[in-house]
Amino acid sequence: MSDRKPYVGGNWKMNTDHQSASELARGVADGRAGGDGAEAADFPPFPYLAAVGAILRERQSSVKLGAQDVYHESDGAFTGEISAAMLKDVGVSVVLAGHSERRHVIGEDDTLINAKVRAALDAGLEVILCVGETLEQREAGQTDAVNERQTRAGLANVGAEQLAHVTIAYEPVWAIGTGRTASPEDAQNAHAKIRAVVAELFGIEAAGRIRIQYGGSVKPGNAAELMAQADIDGGLIGGASLKAGDFCQIVRASAPAMA
Ligand code: PEP
Repeated sequence: MSDRKPYVGGNWKMNTDHQSASELARGVADGRAGGDGAEAADFPPFPYLAAVGAILRERQSSVKLGAQDVYHESDGAFTGEISAAMLKDVGVSVVLAGHSERRHVIGEDDTLINAKVRAALDAGLEVILCVGETLEQREAGQTDAVNERQTRAGLANVGAEQLAHVTIAYEPVWAIGTGRTASPEDAQNAHAKIRAVVAELFGIEAAGRIRIQYGGSVKPGNAAELMAQADIDGGLIGGASLKAGDFCQIVRASAPAMA
């Protein structure tokens, strides 16, 4: 068994309002998510970051405050964008970069995603870099090649010492929000290949330390089997993170010692 601490993020996407985000944050904090056995983070929409952060602090929760995206420039004429410094200012400690909805709905490419990864790390934020293939790419046998390209591009010019602040989330696009999940074997296989890419880039020890989350329709009912795989170190959870009870169950499933 690896000594990587499981890490589970709840990506609330463009859901909740002020009241429901606050209730969800209270539920996650009170539900024992995060702690000795596993790390956890909430990723609320930007407008609710401060409120959710205040609730987590008030309850002395170890759940981290995360942002779903970040812009790579530090300030200036970038209407609508949000810098790493602004996120830190409201208590954010971790950001997502390259989520598949940013890649495929908004149109972000590997170069932009890499700029975001580096800007966030340079600012002292932790990063979860999301990679994963579309259904078309999977059917064309390109899964490993896509994961390798996105991993290499996302981590380009990241310093060896900065890698300690990076987590990778493998999220097959066809499994996100669809109710379809990669089989534990397929997910394990993809994770092992991604870890091998990190080993080529940063060496075997660093690859053994980096956490790789699985994301794609993870629910309390399928979490334990996925999290039991050797190279799966937690999850990035969308739909199921909108129910505090389900999210906390998934966090516990990632760390059997907590159950
Ligand atoms: C996600 O948003 O990263 C995700 C994995 O969503 P879902 O769990 O709903 O598939």
